[in-house]
Parts: sequence; C-alpha cells; structure tokens
Amino acid sequence: MRLFIPGPVSVSKEINDAMQKEMIGHRGKEFAEVFGECSNGLKEVFQTKNRVLISTSSGTGLMEAAIRNCVSENVLMVECGAFGKKWVDIAKACGKNVDVLHVEAGKAVNHEELQAKLSTKKYEAVCVTHNETSTGVANDLKSIAPIIKDNGALFCVDTVSSMGGANIPVDEIGLDVCLTSSQKCFSLPPGLSFASISEKALEKSRNVKGKGYYFDFVELAKEYDTNQTPYTPAVGLIFGLRAQLKGMLDEGLSNVWARHIAFANETQKWALSKGLGLFAQEGNRSVTVTCVENTKKINLEEVKKKVKAKGYVMDAGYRKLNDELLASGRNETLRIPHMGNLTLQELKAYLDTLSIEMGL
Ligand code: PLP
Repeated sequence: MRLFIPGPVSVSKEINDAMQKEMIGHRGKEFAEVFGECSNGLKEVFQTKNRVLISTSSGTGLMEAAIRNCVSENVLMVECGAFGKKWVDIAKACGKNVDVLHVEAGKAVNHEELQAKLSTKKYEAVCVTHNETSTGVANDLKSIAPIIKDNGALFCVDTVSSMGGANIPVDEIGLDVCLTSSQKCFSLPPGLSFASISEKALEKSRNVKGKGYYFDFVELAKEYDTNQTPYTPAVGLIFGLRAQLKGMLDEGLSNVWARHIAFANETQKWALSKGLGLFAQEGNRSVTVTCVENTKKINLEEVKKKVKAKGYVMDAGYRKLNDELLASGRNETLRIPHMGNLTLQELKAYLDTLSIEMGL
C-alpha cells in the first residue's frame, strides 16, 4: 500500500533494511560514529553550523522543548492552521503567557500585522509554522525573519512537513530553533525528530527555570558534542537516518529541492486542469503538500475507498478544517502530499488514479 497522506510517508526497502542491522549499545564507539555521521548530514540538510539535536520523540516533543527552553513567560504564536494551534496549546499547557496572531486558513502571515504585534517588544520568542500541513500554506521565513529579529525575540520554526523537501537555509535566515520530524520529507518511520539550536537559544535555555528534564537543550547539547545522547536513543531509527541522509546527499540537496518544486508544480497544474481549486494563497503554496479545494463537491470518502482498492492510501483533507469550511458554506479540501523519496512518475501515476476515481 502506498501512503499518499501527509505523513507518515512510505518507507523504502533500502531504509527498512538499514534499520534491521544488529542492535548495538549506544555508549560504544560504533554508535558514536553513526551519530556523528547523522549530525554532520543533518547540518548539511539544515544548512547550519549549529548543532542539530536528534530526539527520540516525534516533532511535538521538540515543539514543547522549544517552548520550555526558549520562553520564561511571554511567547507570540503565529497560528495559520491546525499545527499553529497545536503550538498554542503546548505553550499554554507549559504555563506560558501566550499571545496569538491568528491568520485566516489558506493565508500566510501578514508582515504588518506581525510587526504591530511585536512592537510591544515583550515576547521572548515567536513561533511560526513554516509549512502549515493542514492548509498547504508555506510562510516566507526569509521575509519575516528581520521583523522578529529586530524586535529582539527568538525565532522558533516548525518545519515538520518541509525540512528535507524545501530549501530552508537555517543560518542564512537566522532561525534559533528549527525543528522537524522523521516521518515526512525524510521518508523514515515516525519516532525521531531533529532541531537546530542557535547559540542564542542555548544561552536563553541556560537562564530559563522549570524547563523540565527530558528536553533540556543544555544537557542535550553537552552530550551531542561527544556524539552521544543523554538517554537511550532509538538506535534502529538512527541507522535508518544515516542511510536516508546518505541517499539525500548523494542525490544532491539542490536536486532534492528541485524535485519537490516539480512535484508541487505538477500537482497544482493537475488540480487546475481538472477544474479544482488551490486552497493556499498564490505565492505561499507549499512544495511538499498541495491542499486542493473540492470545487466539484465530489464525495471524497467514496474516492478514498476506490483509490485504496488501487493500492493507495489517500488523504481526504484535514477533518477539522473541512468541518469548519463546510459549516461556513465553503468547499471542503483534500490534500495531496508530495514529499520525501518519491519520483515524478509515481506522483503522476497517483494523480492519474485520482483523475479516474474522482471522475475528472
Ligand atoms: N507540525 C506540523 C506542521 C505537522 O504537520 C505535524 C504532524 O503532522 C506536527 C507538527 C506534529 O508532528 P509529530 O506528529 O511528528 O509530533
């Protein structure tokens, strides 16, 4: 069964085989070598000289870590959809004072509104979802970075569904925390997440109280510098990560990014040629997931069943968003993910299947 849901994505036989290697202890030389290779590879993908921590948790764990380590009291959340909302909920659950800049679903953050919110200069950090998986919107990190930096806040970004597919130069943009998960553009099983941490973020963490134990950046960084983790890591998944990073670097990162742009172009072209709509605003459309407006009011649950019989698991849109859209008299959406170890032929074959089963 081929997964065409926005994570987890299908894992190749090569990566599955790499993860079947005989188990080793995580305090030995062999593990340190594997870990070292992974941290170097991740630095290349993230385009950073900072540490890129490897966490045995899904991305949500590192979203919580960003809050716990970078915020004593006040944080601003840019909420463009379900995953922005998730960060709001996490920060509230961590007892922080949370202000929210709501952005209409399908739209990217507006610079003037962000500037207005930040002019109080009270926020220690601003959290942004780069690629809002629920709506297919990609915020332009480069253009919003100066607004955040000039106001003295740390810039924390969720790239769970974009890092490894989109070109995100962490150091050039100046991201303080940039986190992602293994099960999307890295085409690995769920269970690992990665976060680059700037020196500024680390400095902040040294001075924040009550940041908990498991996700303490200072402790994680200390062990990281000796190619270790403070606690038992998911060794098998890290074998898979080494193989996946090798594959990405062998392909060439610029080719990986170009492939994802080609996927997005192909999918957008397909949707428009079939008379469907694109939910995300022009200029801010994701290269890893396309959110399609079901302008023809096709029964997506029926399509999902038919597509399954052809060997695909289809996404029929983010349920909560669709419920809200339908309640306000608008069309629901479906999402077409195009991330990770996918070829253009495989994507085209999937789009052809959708065309048939949607009767387009
Ligand atoms: N942020 C975004 C943009 C996501 O798409 C997801 C998961 O789909 C998450 C955060 C949560 O990540 P995880 O499921 O790895 O905890």
